[in-house]
Amino acid sequence: MAEKRDYYEVLGVAKTATADEIKKAYRKKAIQYHPDKNPGDKEAEEKFKEAAEAYDVLGNEEKRRKYDQFGHAAFNGQAGPDFSQGFGNINDILNDLFGGGGFGGFNFGGGFGGQQSGPRVYRGRDIRTRVSLTLEEIANGCEKEVSIERQVPCPDCHGKGAVNDSDIKTCPACGGTGQVKRVVNSFFGQTVQYSTCQQCGGDGKVISKPCHSCNGTGLVRKRETIKVKIPAGVEEGMQVTMRGGGHAGKNNGQNGDLLILIQEIKHPELVRDGNNLVYTKILSVTEAILGADIEVPCIGGKTKVHVEPGTQSGQTMRVRGKGLPTVNGYGNGDLIVKFIVFIPKKINREEKELVEKLAQSESFKPDTKNDKSFFDKLKDMFN
Ligand SMILES: [Zn+2]
Ligand SMILES: [Zn+2]
Repeated sequence: MAEKRDYYEVLGVAKTATADEIKKAYRKKAIQYHPDKNPGDKEAEEKFKEAAEAYDVLGNEEKRRKYDQFGHAAFNGQAGPDFSQGFGNINDILNDLFGGGGFGGFNFGGGFGGQQSGPRVYRGRDIRTRVSLTLEEIANGCEKEVSIERQVPCPDCHGKGAVNDSDIKTCPACGGTGQVKRVVNSFFGQTVQYSTCQQCGGDGKVISKPCHSCNGTGLVRKRETIKVKIPAGVEEGMQVTMRGGGHAGKNNGQNGDLLILIQEIKHPELVRDGNNLVYTKILSVTEAILGADIEVPCIGGKTKVHVEPGTQSGQTMRVRGKGLPTVNGYGNGDLIVKFIVFIPKKINREEKELVEKLAQSESFKPDTKNDKSFFDKLKDMFN
């Protein structure tokens, strides 16, 4: 697959564009590349889809924020409206956006995708759920089980709405197409406009004896446990999409999606900062002066670090690659160990004498001249 273009570039707007500017830009592209205006033009069709995908993300506050943060990786390359069922969905979006009347309605009759004739295919609704993950699960990626109640095809009528096929009749009003057609004068000239058949509600069929289990809807609710794969590197507030994991669609339509919101469980010792992990280590005065080999917690256990002699309170050390992976799979963050030196509050007489002796020593007087840059950094930290 070719490299995906930047969504802002696709719509020709600045990264700082307002929601209104984005909507206007999309409207322009949608008119320009609309298949009604460019019959048989594959390139226009691609451009039209590309713009729709870009708008699907940038037109949604939450998706846009994620895109700004993670780029295309935020959606695993699966952003955008689904065109696998023809252009039914995008029609709804456009009509929703600009009003059905303004353009004479968006529809794709004759030859374009060939989806217009035939009963309406419903897409099932999405289901939202959440999972709580430990840092270890986030670091490695994991599989979680979630329990959801969703609509599934009725087992008694196999989703058809009637147990016997003879109880399902083609709708006499629309002849099974689910739509009635009329010609209107519009923006583009004369356009064929389709509207949903009133008699069958777009299903294209009427059921004389509905199935008892589902009242003719073809769907029943069922509680199910589903395994979802969570990629490594996700973070609080991100959403993982499981295509087709939502409610089943009416008329054996496409399933909705399962949208899984990520929540993080706080680690007892490590604090997350982007893809880095921060651990605060308290050193004794002697460790700070003499240096030490210590162990610090990291994902999946402990790691050894060497504390240099003369380590200052507030100093940090970076252990490369011991942080969390990035969600798009490029590298790892670091483990940052922050040192705080513990100064004893109570000491006995003997210790006091020792410290008083040390107090005379030149080495124990702060060397602010030679360590100026370090102390400046410290001061900055507290400002
Ligand atoms: Zn049924
Ligand atoms: Zn009908």
